[in-house]
Amino acid sequence: LNRRLAEFGTTIFAEMSALALRTGSINLGQGFPETDGPEEIREAAVRALRDGRGNQYPPGPGVPELRTAVADHQRRRYALDHDPDTEVLVTAGATEAIAAALLALVEPGDEVIALEPYYDSYAACIAMAGATRVPVTLRPAPAAAPAQGSAAPDAPHASNPSAPPGAPVPRGSAGGAAAHRTFRLDLDELRDAVTDRTRLLLLNTPHNPTGTVLTRAELAEIARLAVERDLLVVTDEVYEHLVFDGAEHIPLATFPGMRERTVTIGSAGKTFSFTGWKVGWATGSAELVTAVRAAKQFLTYVASGPFQYAAAEALALPDSYFEGLRDELQAGRDLLAAGLADAGFEVYRPTGTYFVTTDIRPLGESDGFAFCRALPERVGVVAIPNAVFYDHREMGAPYVRFAFCKRKDTLAEAVTRLGRLA
Ligand code: PMP
Ligand code: GLN
Repeated sequence: LNRRLAEFGTTIFAEMSALALRTGSINLGQGFPETDGPEEIREAAVRALRDGRGNQYPPGPGVPELRTAVADHQRRRYALDHDPDTEVLVTAGATEAIAAALLALVEPGDEVIALEPYYDSYAACIAMAGATRVPVTLRPAPAAAPAQGSAAPDAPHASNPSAPPGAPVPRGSAGGAAAHRTFRLDLDELRDAVTDRTRLLLLNTPHNPTGTVLTRAELAEIARLAVERDLLVVTDEVYEHLVFDGAEHIPLATFPGMRERTVTIGSAGKTFSFTGWKVGWATGSAELVTAVRAAKQFLTYVASGPFQYAAAEALALPDSYFEGLRDELQAGRDLLAAGLADAGFEVYRPTGTYFVTTDIRPLGESDGFAFCRALPERVGVVAIPNAVFYDHREMGAPYVRFAFCKRKDTLAEAVTRLGRLA
């Protein structure tokens, strides 16, 4: 293994899913839904296979039906206009879009800023591109009462000035409407991280693993910074539809000056509960998308032919589908978050994604790696140590991530098991 990749080893998801299988544990580690997506969309994939649509190499940029569906979806939901022929690129999942964007847009030696903790492929792709990653760490912060999404206060400490960082949340409060803790971006730290060598900002909202959804005010500030310092932005928005408590996901590309400097990434895996299909997409200006495509063509060339047709049909599903998915995940979040709090974890209640991050220190633990490696034997549950998403490993050490994209009975059983930890 070359020097660029030597530090990465096996992804934590493969390791932990194998551990779940080996021990027969409930797998709340790797983020994949326990229930497959809509029957009618599976049927659409079967029809495409049977009718011979996509069984041979599809067009390089993706089948026209899907590119049009992506553009329609962006227009309908966010009033973002993209030409399906030149400004939409279909990829082998969001993973390939991230890789291709970095390989296409940065030079060796450039600095790439990423929000830490970050999804594990970011670090590896930055390294493969020969660039230097510059982490900006999301900090634990007590939040004002229930999540307010885009209306969330600019000063997260304001409503609870007496709570020191690290102050525990009352047990059992995590799923309810009580004040709760979150991870926040410090915009001053972000500003300070930009140097003359910074080429690109790699953003992720809703954020894996913290569940933080960047607010309108935060995004506006990020946009101003990107324009001022002439940065490109790759924004990973695969959890765009998985946002709770009435909060709003706002694509960065909708802010002034951003459309021409932003590559936005989405995925059918998360939005339609088909993570095995590996259908993703990138949208942006024709210039940026052409560049990403130049790299993509030599990674997979094309992928997932018949599934592209099915994903096109899925994107045209009525709003009620997206609302139903969101409500179901929110209920799963509430169940798991409350159970984790009852079991003695300190819970950072997520406003989006599949994941809830916890602090294990109230359980008398401090090493998330050791905790996650022992958890299957102790109670039959698998989780992910957030430290793998940090450059500053020590900062991530006490945090552990649990996935709630599972059936209610599975989550209830996991909560029962975790209750035995105390
Ligand atoms: N970005 C983030 C933040 C993710 O959590 C994931 C997968 N869980 C991906 C990208 C990869 O998406 P895909 O499966 O479409 O490649
Ligand atoms: N994105 C998923 C997660 O964060 C896992 C994807 C993968 O296994 N690479 O759990």
